[in-house]
Amino acid sequence: MALAMNGGAAVMRGQWPQWPRVSESVLRSATEALVSGRWAVSGDWNGRQPLDRELGRRFAAYSGTNYCVPVDHGSSALVLALLSTGVKPGDEVIVPGLTWVATASAVARIGAVPVLVDIDRETLCISVEAVVRAITPRTRAVIAVHLYSAMADVERLERICAEHGIVFLEDCAQAYGAQWDGRPAGSFGRAAAFSTQQGKALTSGEGGLFVTSDDEVRDRAEMYRGDGRRYMSASPQNSRSQLVEFAEVQGWNMHLSEVQAAILLDGVAELPQLDEKRRSAAAYLDRAMEASLAEWFAPVRAHEKNAVRGYYHYALRLRLDAWGGIPVAQICEALSAELGLFSHVTYPPLSHHPLLDPRRLWGDAERWDLTRFPLPVAELAQRSTILIHHSALLADEDELDSIPEALRKLVDHQGELRAA
Ligand SMILES: *Cc1c(COP(=O)(O)O)cnc(C)c1O
Repeated sequence: MALAMNGGAAVMRGQWPQWPRVSESVLRSATEALVSGRWAVSGDWNGRQPLDRELGRRFAAYSGTNYCVPVDHGSSALVLALLSTGVKPGDEVIVPGLTWVATASAVARIGAVPVLVDIDRETLCISVEAVVRAITPRTRAVIAVHLYSAMADVERLERICAEHGIVFLEDCAQAYGAQWDGRPAGSFGRAAAFSTQQGKALTSGEGGLFVTSDDEVRDRAEMYRGDGRRYMSASPQNSRSQLVEFAEVQGWNMHLSEVQAAILLDGVAELPQLDEKRRSAAAYLDRAMEASLAEWFAPVRAHEKNAVRGYYHYALRLRLDAWGGIPVAQICEALSAELGLFSHVTYPPLSHHPLLDPRRLWGDAERWDLTRFPLPVAELAQRSTILIHHSALLADEDELDSIPEALRKLVDHQGELRAA
């Protein structure tokens, strides 16, 4: 039987779960928000507190923090994290060389300078040793990204940042459901950012969630997201809006709409159960790979304290020696065809990202030149990592079995892959 990419029958015959999910209850929640007449936090008072507030409370509880400020994008949550913890233009902010570009472009957006460091071989998250080496007197913050399915070593990073008087921040866009030693991702940094963009494990199409346990940071974040206004929970008397001008910080409009808040409230309610389903499916795949594919593939491993993982992608590594130079992109394409599902290779290292080209950024070109940061481990990850979207982990075992079966088929058809 030929590979599906060459016209053979695909391994997967069934259907993968639809993502995003459209349940009866989310339809009801979104409709209720629409007919309520209040589509925005800044909209007219209608006798009810906005859903934005309720979402903030629920998500703070989920993430083990005191406060959550919902925002329009995960990128905005990152910008708020930087601004509300006092990062200023010209400050250096350490970010991992392997992440979605938004982690570094948020730093650039406020005029601070991203400093790229390499990743850990096992977890693919920021390397603690590399962070220590990159700290200078101009370093103001470190952003740890919990990438794909593993957490960065938050415990050591938090301690190192405290010792150096540096702000520790978490990019949790991919870390729903993850815990370190029983504590949720997002509760370690002075502030943390989640994204609810369409692909993420909690979604409203676009959106983001900023979290912190610090009163002052929360207060500033709320003003930054609301054009300098604070939210007043009392029903307004002479103003029809619940937002009151303070302008202690400048701010922009980064509000999430009430319809998005309704969708997220519904999503947060089912999130713990979906987190658990993804986790057990991933463990099932880990076992299947261990049992018969270990010579060719290895799942990405997490630190032992991160035993409770949160899955954005199920990430697996090729054992490069076993594949005799067949490029990962080709293996990925063949796998996608077998599964009827897009699997991806990992992001390219940020050192050569076109959005971070110094000619496009302001300030002093030399400080901005990110090509000066060597990222050998991130480069190796790019040559060897395959990603399967978390929605596949919501499938039943019959469908899940097609993943190790497809991987086995690729192993058995290496000649065909090599000839392609
Ligand atoms: C998705 C993502 C973001 C950005 O979130 P948006 O909602 O798209 O702005 C930031 N960091 C990481 C790691 C992400 O995966």
